[in-house]
Amino acid sequence: MQHLLQLEDVVIRFALRFGDLTAVDGVSFALDKGQRLGLVGESGAGKSVTGFSIINLISKPGYIASGRILFEGRDLAHLDEEEMRDIRGNRISMIFQDPMMTLNPVLTIGEQMVETLLAHRKFTEDECRDRALETLRKVHIPSPEKRLSQYPHELSGGMRQRIVIAIALLADPALIIADEPSTALDVTIQAEILDLLLELCESEKTALILITHDLAVVSQVTETIAVMYAGKIVELGSTEAVIHTPMHPYTRGLINALPGSVHSERRLNQIPGMMPSLMTIPPGCSFHPRCEYRMEVCRHQVPDLRYYESFGREVACHLGEGLFGRSS
Ligand code: SF4
Repeated sequence: MQHLLQLEDVVIRFALRFGDLTAVDGVSFALDKGQRLGLVGESGAGKSVTGFSIINLISKPGYIASGRILFEGRDLAHLDEEEMRDIRGNRISMIFQDPMMTLNPVLTIGEQMVETLLAHRKFTEDECRDRALETLRKVHIPSPEKRLSQYPHELSGGMRQRIVIAIALLADPALIIADEPSTALDVTIQAEILDLLLELCESEKTALILITHDLAVVSQVTETIAVMYAGKIVELGSTEAVIHTPMHPYTRGLINALPGSVHSERRLNQIPGMMPSLMTIPPGCSFHPRCEYRMEVCRHQVPDLRYYESFGREVACHLGEGLFGRSS
């Protein structure tokens, strides 16, 4: 069966003067039409690089060293820039943390929306305006006619992010990749933006990859979670299962660190140590210096990501079935 998106063993490296460093190491996952996946992990886990690789936006000296990124049957890793531009904004849209990365401060909202529409579709000026207004209504922008003539600096942060979401939706993409879309906003507005993303993905049947360090955010919006650590997926399963019964010791650490976590009363709510840099990824299981369950084998043998029927998910840990016996 052909998935909407399928990453197969993707490896991304950065070519530096002293040698190549691996930022993403054999990542695989699939996404179907309308599905919502969260890519989660601390800073440096490789989640944003993975997300950017899908639309070929890895900044140099990064490059896709191997693997396939199949989208609607085409391998995006081997398209030229012109073919990729056609896919970006048409079939796949991106939403960044800072709306000002997307919005042009010297153009009105209307001009930017029309520019986006004309870049991807053949519309008359009236059709562009109608489509822009319709999309602003979809994202619940009050007084949409007035917004068309306003500049980004005249709007609040939450309103700007709604405009960015509206622009992302203009071309009816099959997939939206959102990188920390609500992190820069205050808590109330953050919840509104996440609700909006969820509502739109459901109503438009748009697939979503939500990249975030915040498990609480993914639990609100996604159906599936891929937890990343030092460039690898360490746990992949349904959001409900991963949040309620985390198996991998790193996932458990992230859950324990959530304020108000059911697990946090019994455990210190910080994972000791830090995510290793690309230059200092430990041998064996890269999480072993921080893991309270580490065994001798963990120091020198990389655990495979294996599917455990009894867990209903994939986990990369030498504890294997023994994960069942470890209470979080
Ligand atoms: Fe901990 Fe070993 Fe599992 Fe890594 S493989 S998470 S070090 S128990």
